[in-house]
Amino acid sequence: MKTDRSHELFTRALELIPGGVNSPVRAFKSVGGEPFFAQRAEGAYLYDVDGNRYVDYVGSWGPMIAGHAHPHVLEAVARTMRDGLSFGVPNPLEVTMAETIARLVPSCEMVRMVNSGTEATLSAIRLARGATGRARIVKFEGCYHGHGDSFLVKAGSGVMTLGLPNSPGVPAALADLTLTLPYNDFDAATRLFEEIGQEIAALIIEPIVGNANCILPREGYLQHLRALCTKHGALLIFDEVMTGFRVALGGAQARYGITPDLSTFGKIIGGGMPVGAYGGRRELMQQIAPAGPIYQAGTLSGNPVAMAAGLATLDLIQAPGFHDGLERRTHALCEGLEAAAREAGVAFCTTRAPGMFGLYFREGPVETFEDAKASDTARFNRFFHAMLRRGVYLAPSAFEAGFVSSAHGDAEIAHTLAAAREAFAEVA
Ligand code: PMP
Repeated sequence: MKTDRSHELFTRALELIPGGVNSPVRAFKSVGGEPFFAQRAEGAYLYDVDGNRYVDYVGSWGPMIAGHAHPHVLEAVARTMRDGLSFGVPNPLEVTMAETIARLVPSCEMVRMVNSGTEATLSAIRLARGATGRARIVKFEGCYHGHGDSFLVKAGSGVMTLGLPNSPGVPAALADLTLTLPYNDFDAATRLFEEIGQEIAALIIEPIVGNANCILPREGYLQHLRALCTKHGALLIFDEVMTGFRVALGGAQARYGITPDLSTFGKIIGGGMPVGAYGGRRELMQQIAPAGPIYQAGTLSGNPVAMAAGLATLDLIQAPGFHDGLERRTHALCEGLEAAAREAGVAFCTTRAPGMFGLYFREGPVETFEDAKASDTARFNRFFHAMLRRGVYLAPSAFEAGFVSSAHGDAEIAHTLAAAREAFAEVA
């Protein structure tokens, strides 16, 4: 496999960009080796600067749910772009975007656009703190909500103990205010709320965890959290940056029938452009400036080209049967991988939601972050490279979910499974 041009680019990048990348996971640190540099992408495929082609199961980490460079999205971008790239005054597409999100996700009675998932989550917790007058937030082990200071926090020695900074530069005084619960543990959540429920501004959760590989909520778990928040006057925030518009048209909240107070989005709503959004109950959202006193702003927020790409993507996913198709493809992929692993005698299991999956080198089931951590990551890393050499690009970390798009057809899945049979034999 030719990698000269990627290697040359990475060498230059390392001189000037920390770690050679503009976002850490891209550096392949976890799987080892060097990243490849993309030349272009189309449908289910990524093409690198050395001419290699990969079936892509990362999809730019989620936005490319309709496949790369979809003509409908590119045309919308090209049309919009000719009228100018940014205005700094309101534009009609922002209104259409807010209407579209509110229609597809009814808990979002009002919406504010931002430029990334990180901005969405940190704005949502500012709103929660401002609206409740409380300071503490609760998050879950293994969940990722972007790189805001309040989220770069790990659990202290017990659930009730103060959070600890998970990165230099996060003040301990701020980390103190973030408590961390084990995902899918009913009792731990009950105990925490009984103890300090009246101090909690918000509980934020990835309703399906996509940042610890892929972990699904236990039956009734999200309902349990909804009830605890309601009882103790804390806001429930669903971080649907990954699951939004993917696991169902209305996101995980539609799939599980839960109404959060606030929701955060990103990825798909930008169709590949830098976008995030947060929304929720009208009475809460009305407290955001300039309607209310809680400040949040953005020079490029609601950018017309980004709105056009997002709206075109949202058009595509509203086609009848779109999510059923995603679910079928994801199921076929995961069943095929499990069968290939069994043939090779490799301990392996998958978790899955429509358009989203987890791969674990261990026997199932995987229901907690502890379960996820017990995957044989050294074996995953070898499998990752064995697949890459065969033209299949999986997420370059044992702790990231994979994504399937509507462009992953029978041919791509067949190619992936043929590669997997050889790769499992290689790592057996
Ligand atoms: N929340 C979740 C659930 C995410 O998966 C991510 C990014 N992968 C973020 C927030 C942060 O989004 P961004 O990288 O756009 O800042």
